Amino acid sequence: MKRIVILGCTGSIGEQTLDVVRRHSDKLQIVGLACGKRVDVMLQAAEELGVKVCATNSANAADQAKAAGSIPEGVSLEVGDDAVSALAVLPEADVVVNALVGAAGLRASYATLQAGKVLALANKESLVVGGDLLCKASCLEPSSLIRPIDSEHGAIFQCLLGERFEEVEALWVTASGGPFRGRTRDQLASATPEEALAHPTWNMGPKITIDSSTLMNKGLEVIEAHHLFAMPYDRIRVVVQPQSAIHSMVEFSDGSVKAHLGTTDMRIPIQFALSYPDRWDAPVAPLDFTQLGSLEFAPADTDTFRCLALARAAGQEGGTLPCAMNAANEVAVAAFLDKRLSYLGIADCVEAVMDAHHGETVTSIEQLLEVDAWARREADNWISWT
Ligand code: MG
Repeated sequence: MKRIVILGCTGSIGEQTLDVVRRHSDKLQIVGLACGKRVDVMLQAAEELGVKVCATNSANAADQAKAAGSIPEGVSLEVGDDAVSALAVLPEADVVVNALVGAAGLRASYATLQAGKVLALANKESLVVGGDLLCKASCLEPSSLIRPIDSEHGAIFQCLLGERFEEVEALWVTASGGPFRGRTRDQLASATPEEALAHPTWNMGPKITIDSSTLMNKGLEVIEAHHLFAMPYDRIRVVVQPQSAIHSMVEFSDGSVKAHLGTTDMRIPIQFALSYPDRWDAPVAPLDFTQLGSLEFAPADTDTFRCLALARAAGQEGGTLPCAMNAANEVAVAAFLDKRLSYLGIADCVEAVMDAHHGETVTSIEQLLEVDAWARREADNWISWT
């Protein structure tokens, strides 16, 4: 029995993780849950699955649940960011699924690894911001505690199993291209949150869906791949694969390429992160190749979707720049969803904060939290002045 904690249990990844747990309740047991505002949804899951320890970073939502008397008997509800991070070091937990959104997930990722627990990681911002602290070697090394949940990285992880690092020529990270694939900058000037939230192939939360539409998500994933697989940036390539049937590929020195294909459903990579090194029964219907039709490939348009190039540049420079870049993006995406910033303004805001940042070598979590806070202020100021 693997005993797991889910951080971000009411988001898209969290709910799909709960679904995997329900299907494999003979092998998985949840011992802790954390969420943001949707405390009632979390408490229902806690009651259903017999979870005793819950946490939220939303004091308001916790107060409402207490006032409504909706906390099930025997369940403790802790409040605050520290309470959420504390679940990562719960003594009875073996695996922590980090599905928090944004840089807020960094402390929990760090605490999980410090406590010697397996980190099933969906929070890519942890690696973008703190990869230098979290990843000392490839996650394929037997000593690594990190299991990627991001579909592309889960795919690369599987393609690399049993292979030798020195024989890897390149990682090919696939991108769907998002809802705006093929559009020009002129056409995107008036793009609305509603249009950007209509993702063609993956069903995800709002922040990552906007990031997918700007290709920032792919940029963050390039940085994530660099840290997870100890791969230099010039060997990480992006290709648009609109059907999202190929989840990513690895090219080897003899010209062979291994690809990972499957149904576009996050429960597959979530389940493998939890079952590894075993494979369990499929959580969804397998891909039917007779119905798949054609597979298309195209280069990414980084002139239109500048966030991909900005993120790659931040990753290549390294140090604290990816942290600043990521924080600016989080602020810009929130402002766009709030209709305070235009669609093309997201990349402009990220670039302005990157230009203003004086990068340093990463030394500590505290330093990264300071850079994150600085970049958020810079981005806020930039948005209010433009
Ligand atoms: Mg992904």
